Amino acid sequence: MATLRQKALLMAQSRPKVTVTPPSNKVSDYFGNLVFGLQQMKESLAPSVFKKVGEAIEKGSKIDPSTAEEIASAVKVWAMSKGVTHYTHWFQPLTGSTAEKHDAFFDAHAGIEKFKGSALVQQEPDASSFPHGGIRSTFEARGYTAWDPSSPIFIFDKTLCIPTIFVSYTGEALDYKTPLLKSMEAINEAAVAVCQLFDRNVRKVTPSLGIEQEYFVIDKALYATRPDLVMSGRTVFGHNPARGQQLEDHYFGSIPTRVKDFMVDFEIEAHKLGIPVSTRHNEVAPSQFEVAPIFEEINKAIDHNQLLMDLMDKVAEKHGLKVLLHEKPFAGVNGSGKHNNWSLITDTGVNLFQPSNSARENLQFLAFVVATVKAVYDNADLLRASIASASNDFRLGANEAPPAIMSVFLGSTLTGVLDELEKNGNVKIEKGDNMYMKLGISKIPEIILDNTDRNRTSPFAFTGNKFEFRAVGSSANSAGPMTVLNVIVAEVLRTMAKDIDKEIAAGKEKKIAIVNVLRKYIKDSKKIRFEGDGYSEEWANEAAKRGLSNLKSTPFALEAYHDKKVIELFGKHNVLTPIELHARHEIMLENYIKKVQIESRVMGDLALNHVIPTAIQYQNKLIENANGLKGLGLDNKPAVETIKEVSKHLESLKSSVNAMIDARRRLNKEEDVAKRAKGYCTDVKEAYFDKIRYAVDKLELLVDDEFWPLVKYREMLFIK
Ligand code: ADP
Ligand code: MG
Repeated sequence: MATLRQKALLMAQSRPKVTVTPPSNKVSDYFGNLVFGLQQMKESLAPSVFKKVGEAIEKGSKIDPSTAEEIASAVKVWAMSKGVTHYTHWFQPLTGSTAEKHDAFFDAHAGIEKFKGSALVQQEPDASSFPHGGIRSTFEARGYTAWDPSSPIFIFDKTLCIPTIFVSYTGEALDYKTPLLKSMEAINEAAVAVCQLFDRNVRKVTPSLGIEQEYFVIDKALYATRPDLVMSGRTVFGHNPARGQQLEDHYFGSIPTRVKDFMVDFEIEAHKLGIPVSTRHNEVAPSQFEVAPIFEEINKAIDHNQLLMDLMDKVAEKHGLKVLLHEKPFAGVNGSGKHNNWSLITDTGVNLFQPSNSARENLQFLAFVVATVKAVYDNADLLRASIASASNDFRLGANEAPPAIMSVFLGSTLTGVLDELEKNGNVKIEKGDNMYMKLGISKIPEIILDNTDRNRTSPFAFTGNKFEFRAVGSSANSAGPMTVLNVIVAEVLRTMAKDIDKEIAAGKEKKIAIVNVLRKYIKDSKKIRFEGDGYSEEWANEAAKRGLSNLKSTPFALEAYHDKKVIELFGKHNVLTPIELHARHEIMLENYIKKVQIESRVMGDLALNHVIPTAIQYQNKLIENANGLKGLGLDNKPAVETIKEVSKHLESLKSSVNAMIDARRRLNKEEDVAKRAKGYCTDVKEAYFDKIRYAVDKLELLVDDEFWPLVKYREMLFIK
């Protein structure tokens, strides 16, 4: 057998067990012990200083230099007590991963460990290597990072990490966190205004987020033998195993021991970092799993998810495993998503998406549900753009994944309530009537989502007390889509408050005014609601009839970012300026091109260096055999036929690879980045990827297993 593949398989099968021992049987004994959060601040700071931090978090006010100095010195003492020697600003540039640059506490000149307040609050990392979409060339070469005190400082890998935003010197956002924080402000303002119609005590509304993270795990040695996985995160070739997920036995089966040990290990580390992971289970595809934490305030939840992805990668190493976060590492089996469970919670402790026993609160609940549905309807293309990436393109619309069509699932109970409100909303309300009763909203039953009401095929579903955006890709930074969701819902809430005020000004009673507006919004946004099977052919046809978009590829979906309406929307809510938005659009297009380019190169290299030589080698064996048989006067038909088949696929493979390389060459001369991205989509990916793969996968079936150099699907996916 091809020696690398053979060695890797042997290695994968003979891994010693890694014993994992938690620091204590009680998670509460070590939860958050690598975090310098509010509790630690309270314990180590003077009350007056602590108060200022609280204000900075609450109101986003600036931290003055002397306060910063005190915090920095307390953080340093705490960190050094845990053996930490370096610190870094930890931020989320638009590459999609996290970035850091480590500096030592030790100051050789002074001969002591130092950590200044100014180093805590602001830094100027060398920003030249981060994507900026043209912002820096037109403005300033430098960028800086600034502390986000609303997300706790933590220790990762013996380094003190300070969550920060990353902006250009002229103030343009170069990261995911800056617009997210601004979108929280936007939705806070708009949601509070609507809440005030129901409850004067509400002063603040915060989005909460619980992220379910799906991933694959395979043996590290097997991973290392697949250049496609290493370079692009997915297998560009590989024939389906005889047994895929047809048996559907993986989902409820027990977790393989090696993987379980790995999970326990990273959960312990996550708990130390204050990440509240709570669920683990198998997913539908073989070797696919999921981890989910308890929901948190959105900014923290996203930082924690980014950190968790890094952590899983690091801990996997110790177990001889590799975590694959790509949306579609294996063709023919399920892809991975990152379900974003989103809700809005008031400072009075009310989840605005929780139906209630109080009729008044139910009307409020309906206002927020209707606003969210309308937001998705009004901005479906923008929402689609927010989850667009080269890797997610392989998942959206594929087997078991949400389709690229945006729609909202509400479940039968809520659908019934909205339908009734739409129909009966204009019943005459007489003096003394119980309006809530008449409208059928005095009591909305607790929405218990049994299996019939759990539509797993919807990209955006109401799930009892929250909305779940499922179309987000497993490798994505959730801040992108969550910023968009916050902004589009803020926009509808803002208009809603205005429309209700108008009705009241025209003499309508407040409750009636609210109902009138809700009815209108329900009617306006009805087309986006869909309760059926989102994966079906019929839905694609029905959606087209309804005029809903079905944008299957990233460069086309991204066009939403230069829609005039979208530019205005982001500007109006003070989340992204036209320059920032334009820059983001360019960066995403560039990212797309790079990803497709890399995959295309990997395909070409693997085909030319691995597959074709192997197939020829095998073909020579067959020729020898055919000649031998002929010499003996025996029937050599089977050998000759196989030779012909191999030749046919070889020919197709070689000519497709050459044509694909030509297409790339031609496109690289295209100056317009949007045109280049579209070209990479249609003329490279769509024109050749499947064709090349088909030939290679056929050859995999024909060529003697002993010769085949690439670790096969069955070997990667069924390791225990
Ligand atoms: P599933 O969708 O697999 O049934 P769950 O309903 O248990 O999963 O919840 C999935 C995620 O949703 C978890 O992270 C959970 O903490 C989160 N979640 C639950 N309630 C809320 C809420 N009100 N707001 C945001 N996230 C929530
Ligand atoms: Mg879910």
